[in-house]
Amino acid sequence: MLSASRIKKIEDILPSSRIISSPAALLTYSTDASNLIGSPDIAVLPRNTEEVSKLLAWSYKERATVIPRGSGTGVTGGAVPVSGGMVLCLSQMDRILEIDRSNMLAVVEPGVITGDLQDEVEKLGLFYPPDPSSLKACTIGGNIAENAGGPKALKYGVTRDYCLGLEIALLDGQILHTGTRTQKSVVGYDLTRLLVGSEGTLGVITKVFLRLIHRPDAVCTMQAKFSSVEKAVAAINEIFRMGIIPSVMELMDEKSIKCVSSYLDLDFPKDKGAMLLIEVDGKPDNVREQADRIKTLLTCVFSEEVEEALTEEDREGIINFRRSISPAIYRIGKNKINEDICVPRDRLADCFGGLQKIAEKFDLKMANFGHAGDGNIHVNIMIDDKTKDGARAEAAVREIFKMTLAMGGTISGEHGIGVTKAPYLGMELDASSIRIMKEIKASFDPLGLLNPGKIFHNHPQMASSL
Ligand SMILES: Cc1cc2nc3c(=O)[nH]c(=O)nc-3n(C[C@H](O)[C@H](O)[C@H](O)COP(=O)(O)OP(=O)(O)OC[C@H]3O[C@@H](n4cnc5c(N)ncnc54)[C@H](O)[C@@H]3O)c2cc1C
Repeated sequence: MLSASRIKKIEDILPSSRIISSPAALLTYSTDASNLIGSPDIAVLPRNTEEVSKLLAWSYKERATVIPRGSGTGVTGGAVPVSGGMVLCLSQMDRILEIDRSNMLAVVEPGVITGDLQDEVEKLGLFYPPDPSSLKACTIGGNIAENAGGPKALKYGVTRDYCLGLEIALLDGQILHTGTRTQKSVVGYDLTRLLVGSEGTLGVITKVFLRLIHRPDAVCTMQAKFSSVEKAVAAINEIFRMGIIPSVMELMDEKSIKCVSSYLDLDFPKDKGAMLLIEVDGKPDNVREQADRIKTLLTCVFSEEVEEALTEEDREGIINFRRSISPAIYRIGKNKINEDICVPRDRLADCFGGLQKIAEKFDLKMANFGHAGDGNIHVNIMIDDKTKDGARAEAAVREIFKMTLAMGGTISGEHGIGVTKAPYLGMELDASSIRIMKEIKASFDPLGLLNPGKIFHNHPQMASSL
């Protein structure tokens, strides 16, 4: 617990309007989309690197813990202050500093909202592809810290693939620069790649150099309805065998479809058990040809319905159906346990089958959907009563992870470990890997003050609104 006199010293660094200490206002900074709840002593809102550096130097001197935060849309508790301390919220460092068309890169502050950056670069005919479904709210800093993915990762890759370099404030206040403005650089260890996905445990991101590409000239969006998930997965595999790499390939199972149909008050054919959202993009002729081949395959070979978006409004409708899953699934349970396993694409059908069996074995409601093109499935276990269903749900999660790993998959494709997956880290990583990771953490943060309780530790005592 930080005493009032220690906190008072922060007023030498920031005006009091950007220091939050009242219990009511601190509630905003005590949680994220994981629903876990911590209790910060204070939250601060710096506006530049110098202020971040001074705040870190203060915390180092005071031995106070620091929790970096973007928008708090993380789903594994990464921004939750599990043991008090200072929440360092980067949301007011939100300037796009430069868009360099010649070198095709952008320089941004960490608090820039991902969707805003996309809109700005697209005005110039450029494209920043990483598109987490939370893109209208999450920050570039949070995306870098989590190595966020999204539907377009299938064709374009994840945040890591666009990060050329970083400015990082270290715990003692020093500023570190990694990477270059160039597309290539092989000088020394690749610290940029190490920091991307480090979940705010090694340093605070204060500036980001991002690679941009050309905006695709055309896009075609389709929605295909299938009688079963197995059939949808067979169609996915066939599309890849034809040599087409869609820019988006999203799969929803029957439970997810039913929830969204009811949420949006739409009729969805009762005999359909799966839905694919498919997008192809590129040069107009190429897009037309690929879309036609996909439509022929799905209608003639799979005898399933495909609807192509002919207007921007149609496209929004199809995308909105997929984007509405997160709020819609609360129709089948008050609380969500959200996992984001990833399996090799050719194991998708087995994985969906296995999930169904696990749901039946533990008598749990489960809705599954996700970025099927890259094998990334969002498994949502919906429970009403934590006391009654919590232990069963946890046992189911363990079994889901066992199945995923046996298929050569991973327990997190994009959400990171944070607090919620920390107890399962050892299921995927061997002891030597964990030891080396802890040594890396200690070399950046020997006192363990930066985002404690994340990745390596379990905090079963922490309050949760589940
Ligand atoms: C509806 C919904 C849909 C989502 N869809 C996707 C999806 O498709 N793909 C995907 O990958 N994720 C998705 N997410 C998860 C989440 O949006 C991402 O993890 C996102 O990158 C978090 O960004 P944020 O700004 O909200 O970060 P926060 O939640 O504030 O923080 C996340 C982590 O980053 C660290 N951090 C934040 N800023 C900094 C910084 N400047 N320096 C150092 N560390 C920092 C924090 O300490 C924490 O560990 C979704 C979440 C929701 C609620």
